[in-house]
Amino acid sequence: MKTNEDITRENWKGCKKKKRYKTEEEAKRKSKEYQMYYYKCKFCGGFHLTSSKPK
Ligand SMILES: [Zn+2]
Repeated sequence: MKTNEDITRENWKGCKKKKRYKTEEEAKRKSKEYQMYYYKCKFCGGFHLTSSKPK
């Protein structure tokens, strides 16, 4: 089981590596294009794509 700390660290790592979308609309469009999910990032305030379903 993951702790909140682990999840935060993973998200931060993802934030630095991943492409950032400024708007939800853009992230949504790309997530459909790549058949992925998107989530709002609490670190940068933007959106990122993820292959795993957000909780
Ligand atoms: Zn981010």
